[in-house]
Amino acid sequence: MIKKALEVLQRYFGFTQFRDGQQKVIGSLLQGLDTLAIMPTGAGKSLAYQIPALLFKGTTLVISPLISLMKDQVDALLQYGVPATFINSSLSLNEVRSRIDGVARGKYKLLYIAPERLESESFRGLLESLQVSFLVIDEAHCVSQWGHDFRPSYLHLGPFLKSLPQKPIIGAFTATATEEVQADIVRLLELDKPSIFVTGFDRPNLMFSTFRGENKKEFVLGYTKAHADQPGIIYAATRKEVDNLQSFLAKSGLKVGKYHAGMSDPDRQKTQEDFLFDEITVMVATNAFGMGIDKSNVRYVIHYNMPKNMEAYYQEAGRAGRDGEPGECLLLFSPQDVVLQRFLIEQTVLQPERKMNELKKLQGMVDYCHSPRCLRKTILEYFGEENVQAKCDNCSNCNDEREIVDITLEAQKI
Ligand code: ADP
Ligand code: MG
Repeated sequence: MIKKALEVLQRYFGFTQFRDGQQKVIGSLLQGLDTLAIMPTGAGKSLAYQIPALLFKGTTLVISPLISLMKDQVDALLQYGVPATFINSSLSLNEVRSRIDGVARGKYKLLYIAPERLESESFRGLLESLQVSFLVIDEAHCVSQWGHDFRPSYLHLGPFLKSLPQKPIIGAFTATATEEVQADIVRLLELDKPSIFVTGFDRPNLMFSTFRGENKKEFVLGYTKAHADQPGIIYAATRKEVDNLQSFLAKSGLKVGKYHAGMSDPDRQKTQEDFLFDEITVMVATNAFGMGIDKSNVRYVIHYNMPKNMEAYYQEAGRAGRDGEPGECLLLFSPQDVVLQRFLIEQTVLQPERKMNELKKLQGMVDYCHSPRCLRKTILEYFGEENVQAKCDNCSNCNDEREIVDITLEAQKI
């Protein structure tokens, strides 16, 4: 079976071998087992379900949370010569009809939809007649209220799956899932004795640094200027901060764009594309930017403010260095960041139990900023990895210590 999968990898996608984790996940799916795969950003989750989809009979249904994400995936598949399509609200009614018609005729190997689409009765009818045998849930952490990106529409998945006349094989994929989120995914999607694979969370090519921010603006200006020819992302906490920082950096001649939810759809689409095609090198954005964006040569991710928790941080920072080349992840923090995040939690999370949980996670983030220990170890242990070595020699804390040692050596010589 896995031999066939390797053939597909080489023939369609032009890669020579599977990456860590991909082979196990594919093997499990091809055996017909429900599978939950937790693999870090950039690990290659898409291929881990696209290859089984090519080997299974019929059309595979992929549930995906974002319109831009579906489009990227389908565009990539079409380039590789894989018949795929998406149906979502960005299409005209006529286009939707023609695609549905194509789906009904079995024209596509993969069909991407948002979970909202499952609320339409006629669409559910279509899916029943298709007898989908393999169903993929991408960004599966969206189903959990404990996750950092809960989408209520993902809750439709459970009842939908139950309503199907025959149960498909289910593949659930995510980059971040603590144990409680994993348990939620298994429960809410009713995964049947699932195989769960957690691929190492480590991203050895990423260097992690934390800085206590005094002159954040000047720091960012200096850094971006020194890296002017390299693509980078700067995350800020609020739209206003994004607007300010972007215009500040633009004044110094940097090719810098911005992205946040307050902008129009066409404007966002345009800056996103400009960034993908290196028309602009720096993207200043809120966390609205990035889920699923596959730009492999991002060389640095700066957090201008501390994010609300480690899950969010690691996912955003992980957008650096997806090509395996070195990347830098810099986190600037100040006491005001903690005040802001606490305020946001107080305002938006109403249920007491969830609020407690969010505040606990925020504390984890604060601890990371102040930790004197190896930052990589702190991250990996947060995500439940055991036996992590004490020092990585590729984070600001490990490197600082090395400097201290060096200074001591110098002093001894004197
Ligand atoms: P994610 O796990 O974040 O969803 P993607 O599926 O978007 O990651 O894959 C990240 C990148 O890795 C893509 O550019 C993809 O083409 C590449 N990739 C995936 N599998 C392999 C492989 N076996 N060999 C080489 N490159 C791969
Ligand atoms: Mg992905």
